[in-house]
Amino acid sequence: MKYTEGPEIQDTKAPEGPIEERWEKRKFGAKLVNPANKRKLNVIVVGTGLAGGSAAATLGELGYNVTSFCYQDSPRRAHSIAAQGGINAAKNYRGDGDSIYRLFYDTVKGGDFRARESNVYRLAQVSVNIIDQAVAQGVPFAREYGGLLDTRSFGGAQVSRTFYARGQTGQQLLLGAYQALERQIAAGTVTMHTRHEMLDVIVADGRARGVIVRDMVTGEIERHLADAVVLATGGYGNVFFLSTNAKGCNTTAIWRAHERGAYFANPCYTQIHPTCIPVSGEYQSKLTLMSESLRNDGRVWVPLRKNDDRAPGDIPEEERDYYLERIYPAFGNLVPRDIASRAAKNVCDEGRGVGPGGLGVYLDFRDAINRLGRAAVEKKYGNLFEMYERITGENPYDVPMRIYPAVHYTMGGLWVDYDLQSTIPGLFVIGEANFSDHGANRLGASALMQGLADGYFVLPTTIGDYLAAGPFGDVDEEAVAQAEIKVRDRIDRLMAVNGTRTPDSFHRELGKLMWDYCGMERTEESLRKALERIPELREEFWNNVKVTGTAEELNQVLEKAGRVADFFDLAELMCLDALVRTESCGGHFRAESQDADGEALRDDENFAHVSAWEFGQDGPVLHKEPLEYEYVKMTQRSYK
Ligand SMILES: Cc1cc2nc3c(=O)[nH]c(=O)nc-3n(C[C@H](O)[C@H](O)[C@H](O)COP(=O)(O)OP(=O)(O)OC[C@H]3O[C@@H](n4cnc5c(N)ncnc54)[C@H](O)[C@@H]3O)c2cc1C
Repeated sequence: MKYTEGPEIQDTKAPEGPIEERWEKRKFGAKLVNPANKRKLNVIVVGTGLAGGSAAATLGELGYNVTSFCYQDSPRRAHSIAAQGGINAAKNYRGDGDSIYRLFYDTVKGGDFRARESNVYRLAQVSVNIIDQAVAQGVPFAREYGGLLDTRSFGGAQVSRTFYARGQTGQQLLLGAYQALERQIAAGTVTMHTRHEMLDVIVADGRARGVIVRDMVTGEIERHLADAVVLATGGYGNVFFLSTNAKGCNTTAIWRAHERGAYFANPCYTQIHPTCIPVSGEYQSKLTLMSESLRNDGRVWVPLRKNDDRAPGDIPEEERDYYLERIYPAFGNLVPRDIASRAAKNVCDEGRGVGPGGLGVYLDFRDAINRLGRAAVEKKYGNLFEMYERITGENPYDVPMRIYPAVHYTMGGLWVDYDLQSTIPGLFVIGEANFSDHGANRLGASALMQGLADGYFVLPTTIGDYLAAGPFGDVDEEAVAQAEIKVRDRIDRLMAVNGTRTPDSFHRELGKLMWDYCGMERTEESLRKALERIPELREEFWNNVKVTGTAEELNQVLEKAGRVADFFDLAELMCLDALVRTESCGGHFRAESQDADGEALRDDENFAHVSAWEFGQDGPVLHKEPLEYEYVKMTQRSYK
């Protein structure tokens, strides 16, 4: 795949000056919209997960006219509901040395020095407000006996700053955001469209002015116009087919925006989560996460000997290798995800993996149960243990869980500036859909924090600065009609192929290819192979996909086909991005770039930048945004 390099790109919105004052400065500098004018301004928010739900509720509360979309039958079913483990905040309730600065530091380091300092510092500052907001809404965070909010530890941190609601933190937080959203719907400030899929952004006179959506029940194509558009459409990990994401998660909204001019940043940064239930068969369509919180008490190990097929209970202590505790004594089982995943892969590659195919390691609660008692373990993790038993048929109170890394989160996404605005004026991107705060590796429990920071606190301020110049008047009919025609043509084209293979079968093949060639470990050779194979498979797709039914009815095959088509294009850009970045950093591990201990080896001289890709008719154009570190010194990451 050919690409060219364009001029550098800069984030011009982050203020200068001491880092702790930048967000205050920006908030003060942002233009305000007076309450009477807010009513005249229309904002579209696509997505109702933690990012979109909180944003739509807050914008409605502020008095804007909001139209909200999701493809599920209820805003409450957004993928955020699946989040289990917790949400970080620098409250320091434990008095264990946490602070805004420490959360900022841990996040920049955890992201392997590939995130912007200004954004991350703001995230750490706002984290404190999120907990207060959620508590005020009645989110039932776990509490200690004395009534204080409880916390636990997550990877990449030596303090205990993760707030949680049993193993259902995302669900409880989403219910909080959802009830705030419902209140605005009842008040008439938010109009909700469920079961509507956004298929294009309308860009007129250089601004985002609306969206084209398909009513998924009737098939009708609709146009919705506004003064600004917010995308909160989640991550694209499902490009790998098998992932921990909800099956519906896809890239369509952000990919179509990319085709309209929004730059795509760091598409290759993928997070592989170390603690998932291993793949069990050819026909599996989904993988299940076992929350990272389990690593607070579970110990990860494999047999010392290769091909040791004894039952775990028969392997004596001295013949076990608690490899994370051995290699990383300072962080032990709580090393960040990228490190833990690679370590699991390494011991399995050595032939010491457990379970079918040797692709698994143990996560063992024996010591925790002996130390704390079964009841205490059950109280903390009961629903996760139950879920594990239901899926595997094994009782983790009696035998260790078996886990293996799986695709979980995408740090890449649409490029946004400090205001969360993309390269298309008026198009804002929040939550997992943007690339903003996690660099090359997200720390556990930081996605919920970022989604809610964006939705409740950052966007509602920064979008005002843009909208203060509005309303922007009538939208050019030509631009709307052109977007609508493009959507209709694409649907017609998919319906017309009438081949022999299902969209799912293409998706499965693409996903396997991505996992094998652009997964936990990437090489120049594997990426070149992928870049050769993806266009061939895409061509076959457009000549041989079979979409049953019609476009004028509920048609899940058509929905899937559209999403798989976008996954092909995204997959190609991911591989190109991974090929061009010849260093290793965080979740992007290029086998050619590792140190003597097999750890990721960055190349700061050549790659301390965000790769922001522009969609070009003659191939992608790469724009680099240099990253500067004034506060945190770039060092080789060490968790030893
Ligand atoms: C199993 C699992 C557990 C996790 N646990 C944690 C955790 O404990 N802590 C943590 O911090 N993070 C966790 N994460 C990550 C976190 O859940 C997600 O990153 C986060 O919830 C994403 O929120 P979001 O609002 O950006 O997107 P989502 O919640 O994915 O919402 C996307 C929304 O966009 C809508 N949408 C998408 N495309 C379109 C379209 N084309 N048209 C219309 N609507 C569209 C969807 O309908 C949906 O409403 C977990 C992830 C997984 C997979």
